[in-house]
Amino acid sequence: MSGRVYLVGAGPGDPGLLTARALELIASADVIVYDRLIPGSALDGARADAELLFAGKQGGGEQVPQEQTETLLLERAREGKFVVRLKGGDPFVFGRGGEEALRLREAGIAFEVVSGVTAGVAALAYAGIPVTHRGLATAVAFVTGRTGEDGELDWPALAAFPGTLVFYMGVQRLGRITASLIEAGRDASEPAAVVEAGTLARQRTVSGTLATIAGLVESAEVGSPSITVVGAVAALSEQLAWLPARPLAGLTVAVTRARAQASGLAARLRELGADVVQAPVVRMQPLPGPALDPASYDLICVTSPNAADELFARLLAGGRDARALAGARIASIGPGTTRALLAHGIVAEIEPERFVAEGLVEALVGVEAKCALIARARGGRDLLPDALRERGIAVDLLDLYETVVEPLDAATLARAAAADYVTFTSGSTVRHFLDAARARSNGADDGDHTGDGRAVLSPQTRIVSIGPVTSKTLREHGLEADVEAAQHDIDGLLQALLADASSRR
Ligand code: SAH
Repeated sequence: MSGRVYLVGAGPGDPGLLTARALELIASADVIVYDRLIPGSALDGARADAELLFAGKQGGGEQVPQEQTETLLLERAREGKFVVRLKGGDPFVFGRGGEEALRLREAGIAFEVVSGVTAGVAALAYAGIPVTHRGLATAVAFVTGRTGEDGELDWPALAAFPGTLVFYMGVQRLGRITASLIEAGRDASEPAAVVEAGTLARQRTVSGTLATIAGLVESAEVGSPSITVVGAVAALSEQLAWLPARPLAGLTVAVTRARAQASGLAARLRELGADVVQAPVVRMQPLPGPALDPASYDLICVTSPNAADELFARLLAGGRDARALAGARIASIGPGTTRALLAHGIVAEIEPERFVAEGLVEALVGVEAKCALIARARGGRDLLPDALRERGIAVDLLDLYETVVEPLDAATLARAAAADYVTFTSGSTVRHFLDAARARSNGADDGDHTGDGRAVLSPQTRIVSIGPVTSKTLREHGLEADVEAAQHDIDGLLQALLADASSRR
């Protein structure tokens, strides 16, 4: 039995430019082999058990050889797997998608191609540059700025081309490209622009002419990925640039929470202009257990959104639903958990002002109960059960899930450790992030888990903590939170981060 390979374009970076088909395939794939330039959130919808394989530059160094990537696709397809090969932009525009398709065809493996939005169109559009425009450009040429295997470009032909020239992969050689065009007869005063990280939060445009652009790009220290446009349309960005300035523009923020919960936070950070590094160091793993009959409880405390979801999974396993909770009062630890409960048809009647166990203990002071159930993660704190037991309430602990380590590739870890902000939303994200980062910098884990936390982060990185419990774990690892949310949820964390960023502008 042979599987199938989908060669899928992921667009130039803005997750909104992923196609509906791409999202659908990502959500069902057994295996996803992805490149460096895909949107940060592209893999959020992948199945929890999907195999995610990185095929780009390892840690900013060696590129995984093309041959090896192609062999991997063949192997997985031959195992009968549903394989998505996810590439930046469009798979057939300077993406080596054609080569991979040929290799698959030779091997007799079925494939499909899913077009993506290409950078040569979209990065420019986001900078206010239409690649064709009535009266200014009636044709557009996509050109590779990287020559070599294919020999030198035909400069006279490109110089004479009657329309817009768009160079992919050319920013390091921009001086040579522009000089060659001018030498071959292209007008040195023609408008030109370079768009760095187009469609991403850190998008930047440098504008000039064919004669000046290379120098301007060098002094602005424009990096990768960047696209170059030569032609009258390049000047339109002055009138048509439309991306509004956003409060976190130019800042990189690392999100360490589990992928399944991170997407809301990541999306809001992106809307605020941040470049988000998703570095999910943990993952929620449901624990097996018997169906739940809640009849004997008159108080049920739910301590996280995951606990809410898993509580209902255990009810459903016994053929029960929200009605089975009618005899109990429901206490939620905070707004995220309250929302999760509401999604299951339950309005939590008790929610503390501070979204930590201490807050819940206070909120429960006047609440009468005989027998309480605490729905929680394995290894949760004992503060709440102890406080209830002290009041003579019988307490059952229901461990519904555990937080397990999610391995991260070295490149992602390196980007997270160098971010302007790194966000921690629980003690477990602190522990696992530092373990992973330390293992990366030591090459091995020496077993000493405290004290040297700061060494794994770059000196300017600011640490954001969701609240005092997380800050305490940070302290145990030799780190001090630079920013601590006053309100211990995602809204509070965002507010605190925004306030810090604006005070430092
Ligand atoms: N298949 C991709 C192109 C891959 S080649 C596509 O269709 O877009 C890689 C080059 O694409 C980079 O060197 C850069 O020139 C361009 N590129 C990709 N993403 C970009 C982005 N977000 N902004 C600017 N240029 C980008």
